[in-house]
Amino acid sequence: MDTEQRLAVIRGGVPPKRHNARTIAALTGNPGCTRRAVLDGAGVDKPALAERVGFPARFGQSRFAITRGNVFEAQVKADGGAELLRLVAERLGVPVPAAARWTNLGGDDDPAARARRSATLLTEVLSPADEPAALFDHPMLGLVVAGQRVHLEPDLVAARLGGRFHVVEVKSFPVIDGQADPAKLAAAAVQSAVYVLALRDLMAAGGHDPHLVSHEVVLVCPRDFSNAPVAHLLDVRRQLLVVRRQLDRMDRLDTLLAGVPDGFTADPAADPAALAGSLAQVPARYAPDCLASCELAYFCRQETRGQTGALGRPVREALGGIAEVAEVLAFAAGEPATDPDRAEAAALLRTAARLRADALATA
Ligand code: SF4
Repeated sequence: MDTEQRLAVIRGGVPPKRHNARTIAALTGNPGCTRRAVLDGAGVDKPALAERVGFPARFGQSRFAITRGNVFEAQVKADGGAELLRLVAERLGVPVPAAARWTNLGGDDDPAARARRSATLLTEVLSPADEPAALFDHPMLGLVVAGQRVHLEPDLVAARLGGRFHVVEVKSFPVIDGQADPAKLAAAAVQSAVYVLALRDLMAAGGHDPHLVSHEVVLVCPRDFSNAPVAHLLDVRRQLLVVRRQLDRMDRLDTLLAGVPDGFTADPAADPAALAGSLAQVPARYAPDCLASCELAYFCRQETRGQTGALGRPVREALGGIAEVAEVLAFAAGEPATDPDRAEAAALLRTAARLRADALATA
């Protein structure tokens, strides 16, 4: 059985679920987790799987947030992107052009046809060099994820500003006093890096220098508590490396599959108990961050109940690297360490417990 056939068996014969920029960005959340890499590589419907095993995912954008995002994006792009052009040019530190060519590449037609049209128009703009700036609304790009071509649609690509292409992302989370929610900012940076990679791949495929696409992404958000847009530059070089590394790992799925038992299935139609048992056969690496980035988080969390690793690596390390919560509590209660390697951790935990008890008594 080749890799493709094996992945189809794991999915239960259903077609693979397609990735998008958000799911590709989420792949980087826990790159060391084999369970996730195999499920995502196979294109398993993880929300359905999580529901089937009794631990439905509890994240995702609310309908309200999606609507708010769409309204803000439409507002920012009004008048052929005149305000957006000013914001982006000013943030890049280049003169604001009197006008820019606006090309709407969005629509409901065939994504492959849109991708071809986007590739033609985005590379056409490379010559001649004295043309005005150009803004491409919702171009269709592509990346190969685990052997499948995935279509990706950034909010906007600006060309000829500062001599390069810039990905522009419009987000509806606010920037208050110059600060945005760090988690949302981090997610936006990874997602934007996915678009930069896709645009660089497009350039390279056309025989152009991929570095014509800047690693600086322009993020446009509402300012303070208003709807007035403000632009920020995000340097996504680190995220580009992380996303590329994870995509390369997904390309080597056969290596990962070699360590997965033959009968492993993630078919959401299978018996829930059998599915849970099957999932347990593939190593996972649960961390609290999974709660925000992987649909299986509640399943994996219950699996690690009682283990210090479930509290995150910093907590586990602070507890002397001891794996079981029960053992940590026993040491804190004064139980002696029989293993000499744990004697120091046991002494520290005893001291910490005594200091906590003293502090509570004083309070
Ligand atoms: S939730 Fe589970 S499968 Fe998903 S990344 Fe975390 S450990 Fe891996």
